[in-house]
Parts: sequence; structure tokens; C-alpha cells
Amino acid sequence: MTEFWKKNKKRLAAVVAFIAAVLLCLGFYVRSDYQSYCREAVPILEYHGIGAADGWPQDLFVSSATFENHLKYLHDNGYKMVAVEEMAAMFNKGESTEKVVALTFDDGYLDNYTNVLPLLQKYHATATFFIVHSKIGHYRYMTHDQIQALIAAGMELGSHTINHQILTDIKPEFLTWELATSRYFFKKDFDGYVVRSLSYPNGKYDPEILAASKKYGYYWAVTGNAGAVTKNTLEQKPLELGRIYINDEDGGIKTFRERLRYSYWVGYLKARGINIHFLSGL
Ligand SMILES: [Zn+2]
Repeated sequence: MTEFWKKNKKRLAAVVAFIAAVLLCLGFYVRSDYQSYCREAVPILEYHGIGAADGWPQDLFVSSATFENHLKYLHDNGYKMVAVEEMAAMFNKGESTEKVVALTFDDGYLDNYTNVLPLLQKYHATATFFIVHSKIGHYRYMTHDQIQALIAAGMELGSHTINHQILTDIKPEFLTWELATSRYFFKKDFDGYVVRSLSYPNGKYDPEILAASKKYGYYWAVTGNAGAVTKNTLEQKPLELGRIYINDEDGGIKTFRERLRYSYWVGYLKARGINIHFLSGL
């Protein structure tokens, strides 16, 4: 072995140097490719309730203080915070989407009005509120007038169906009710408001649900898959937009920053054709 090494020392050193150079170039390439992806990509953040869980599943709630930390972090770092429809408009108009995030709130909890709206206004943000129609006015859910106030404040109203049934579990004939009738009810209840965004309950969908969502007039739909949105994904798969679930894990900003970075990375890998399944549902 020693003899072999002595004889081929120069050759082996050249091979090692070559491999190192290739890896270095690859590293630089991926880094700059990832950075250019991030300059375009928009993470969509998924929140539910903001405030105390008060006996409801903790995982659905982020405290008001933590949520304000998130908004402050985004604001102080130059991010623009928009609703899904505004994000889509920015892509369609060819505007820069660098440092843009979309904010979404599912289920229509009462605290979305009492806690979220004032904070969004404080940080000049807009958001999409996905409402479960049958829950309007129920205990711990927003009333009709509170939702009307969100719309008046420039927020987007999206459908989270009528009954929050998991769409993949119901008979296909009920899709019309959950998807088409919910749009109709929102239009009727909120002065002709045209709902264009949809959030699948629990993020679950299949090809039949995609076809029905398209047929019943939804422009965009958010899923439970991780990732970020680019002009390409918006054009190719507008009814399968990725979102990143935000929770209250560390009560501060560390986890939030990691989640944001994770959203860009998963989105980047997917955009380059690498779909890592165990990552996509996180
Ligand atoms: Zn939900």
C-alpha cells in the first residue's frame, strides 16, 4: 500500500483536488441557485388561533406575544406581509416578490378578530382568513359582523368549506355542498363578496377534489404540504399551494426563523424536482 501510495501520490492528490473543486463549484452553484429562488419565492404561513388555548388543542394556538414577535421580526427584517390574493396579484403583475410572505388563518376563531386584526394593522399587514361557514357566530368563532369588519379592513375572506369535513373522506356528491355552496353562502352573506381562495380542511385533497375546486371557481387553494410559492407553482399548480405550519413551540423567534428557512428549502428542492416525501408534510 505504501509502495502504491508513493508511486501514485501525485495522481491521487490530483484526483482529490479535482473532487474537492467539483464539490466546491457545486456548493457555490446550489448556494446561488437557492438564493435566487429565495428572491422570488413566497412562503405561506399557516396559523389558526392567536391567544390562549383555554382547553382547546394547544397546537392550534400561538400566544399573542409570540405572534407579535413573528410580525415584528418580519416587519423589522423588511418583509411585506400579504393575503394570498395580493401575493397572486404581485406575481401576475410581475412585481418583485422578494421578502414577501403570505399570512393565513384557518377556522375563523374569535381571536382572529380580537387579537389578530389589531396586530396586523399595527404592522401594516394583510392576511387571508379561511372561514368555516357553519361555525360563524358559534362559541369562540367570529360573528358575521366581525368577519365583515375584517373585509372592510382590507383582509381576504377565503373558504374553509361549510362543515370542515375532511374532503377526501366524504362522498363526491357532497363536494358541491362544501365547495360550491360555501362560495355561494359567503357571497350572499357578505354583500356579494367573491371568494377566490380555498383551504382544504386538514390540508387533504385528491385529484377529484382538485377538479371540483377548479370547476366551482376557486383560483387558489392552500394545502398541508410544506413549500413556498413561485410564479411557476402559481401558474402550474394554483390549487396545491404549499404552506408552513406555525406553532408556539419556543415562545420566541428561534423556531419561527427555522420554519421560514425550512419553507424556502423544501420549496427550493421541490422546484428543482427533488420531492422528499418525509419532509413535505411537516
Ligand atoms: Zn381547519
